[in-house]
Amino acid sequence: MNYQKVKGTHDFTLDKAEELKALESIFLESSYRYNYHYHDVPVMEYSELYLRSVGEGSDIVRKEMYTFLDKGNRSITLRPEFTAGIVRSIVENKMQVTSVLPIKSCYFGRCYRYERPQAGRYREFYQGGVECVGTKGVNSDIEVISLLLSFFNAIGIKESVLVKLNYLGSEETRKTYSASLKEYFLSHIEDMCEDCKERVNLNPLRILDCKAKEDQKIIEGAPKISEFLSDSDKENLNMIISYLKDKGITYEYDRGLVRGLDYYSGLVFEIYPKDNPTSEGALAGGGHYYGLVKELGGGDLEGVGFSFGAERLLSYLEERGISLAKRKSKKIYVMPLSPECLPYSEDIASSLREAGYLVEVDYSLSKITSMFKKAERLDMDLGVIIGEDEVSSSSVHLKDLRKKEEKTVSKEGLLGEIEK
Ligand code: AMP
Repeated sequence: MNYQKVKGTHDFTLDKAEELKALESIFLESSYRYNYHYHDVPVMEYSELYLRSVGEGSDIVRKEMYTFLDKGNRSITLRPEFTAGIVRSIVENKMQVTSVLPIKSCYFGRCYRYERPQAGRYREFYQGGVECVGTKGVNSDIEVISLLLSFFNAIGIKESVLVKLNYLGSEETRKTYSASLKEYFLSHIEDMCEDCKERVNLNPLRILDCKAKEDQKIIEGAPKISEFLSDSDKENLNMIISYLKDKGITYEYDRGLVRGLDYYSGLVFEIYPKDNPTSEGALAGGGHYYGLVKELGGGDLEGVGFSFGAERLLSYLEERGISLAKRKSKKIYVMPLSPECLPYSEDIASSLREAGYLVEVDYSLSKITSMFKKAERLDMDLGVIIGEDEVSSSSVHLKDLRKKEEKTVSKEGLLGEIEK
């Protein structure tokens, strides 16, 4: 019998696995520089958590959760996203009482959604992101966007993305707007798609980003959020827009953007490739939440966060020919030519590794031509050839495997020569 991976999951092997780990470490480095702390939460939570937070009206809860009863008959769900788990963890550990506010958490790990698998949409996928909990006002919104863009800068795509944003107003504004949308859509509901017939009672805001053809005209005539925003909502929105303008970030105000998770109010945003902004495949998304912490028992605290999909970012980077793992360090292939050269070769390999290089020692003692072939297949940058002459003269023969240039250098001069 041939075993296959579960539909909608995928293996990360070799280069792909390295790219994933490099992405994770660059993201965490970017977050640490903004004083975010790594926060890990379980992959499984009691299902109730997501019903209360992501919301019964969201597509995630209605159709996409991996939910099962455990042997103790408790309903368990594999996390479809991180925000709910992180906030649950903050509240359960009383961090909102014992820590300096805001609590700044960053994370990276697997999520699960029962979606129809297609390019950029999987059933098991990685999300990275941050949550800033216990903040007030718009400054943390801006800081969070700044962090995300600084991460995108670090991976070389800041210039090629577009920020779409909308402002759903304070909790109060969102409630009044929602009620007015419900009234409007109920008066047209007979002509709307089946999904919207359900959404109208569960979460009428979601209708705004419905893609069904028959609904578009009706959506166009719906009340607009801008008519409901208070003066302070408008001031916040303007501050965020000014920030993006100042930084030269391409942005678009999109009043249909509501995000799939019910807990958002205030700022909501999504990030798309500039050259494909209408695709369903946002690279990242986030926003501000007022009621979530309270809903989970943590008092009247606001929060803001974002998450990105690692697989989507990795394939976007691949399309653009960007490798994160390769630029990290040169890859060096050490080739001892006889058993007598092994201790000296290992010594050289250790000092190169300590200096931060990736080093592979070829212990095969085979012909030099076959060692070179192997080095090529392993995509090595430099070859270090060590024969008995090199051992006795405390030197190595260094070959640039890409430029095909070579020379003998002393053991002491090796690091300096590689740096060049
Ligand atoms: P969300 O939590 O739905 O706002 O998603 C945040 C980000 O996670 C999206 O912008 C995507 O990049 C990524 N994402 C969401 N769902 C999937 C999925 N099924 N497969 C791969 N990536 C996903």
